[in-house]
Amino acid sequence: MKEKVYVLDASGIIGGFISSKNRNVTTNGVISEIKDFKSQMTLESALREKKLIIKEPDSDSLDQVQTAIKNSGDILRLSEVDKQLVALAITLKSGFNPVVVTDDYSIQNILEILQIPYRSVLTEGINEVYGWIKICRGCRKKYSPSYPADECEICGSTVYRKRIKK
Ligand SMILES: [Zn+2]
Repeated sequence: MKEKVYVLDASGIIGGFISSKNRNVTTNGVISEIKDFKSQMTLESALREKKLIIKEPDSDSLDQVQTAIKNSGDILRLSEVDKQLVALAITLKSGFNPVVVTDDYSIQNILEILQIPYRSVLTEGINEVYGWIKICRGCRKKYSPSYPADECEICGSTVYRKRIKK
């Protein structure tokens, strides 16, 4: 199993979410959004103690985010910093099991489209990480979230995506 890593947006850092059990990663863009003194102090010590690591996404991952936004009809309002953070989660997928920590609804939406697990900062316990499965409306057969077809291979009914707790 791949190591879990938390990918923090500004709300994660401001909300005081820095896991001591797992690695925490963020981007320079997110760091530049942290303006309040208390959060800057938290940030500084987390960086010094290497609890928080700064990484940037690769360009392939950024392309994937752009494409997902375009395919959604550009309804998602995401800043450049938001896009970079989501792309970082995609970049990390090759070696880790990234979970994005964010209270931002637009970011959560794009993560859902990209099927990247996330959790919010304030409202849920630490174990409440979400993932997805696909389920057939007819025979209820369960598929992996990467099942490519819209129809069930058994009965031909529509397959829909469902959020589950991991
Ligand atoms: Zn079926």
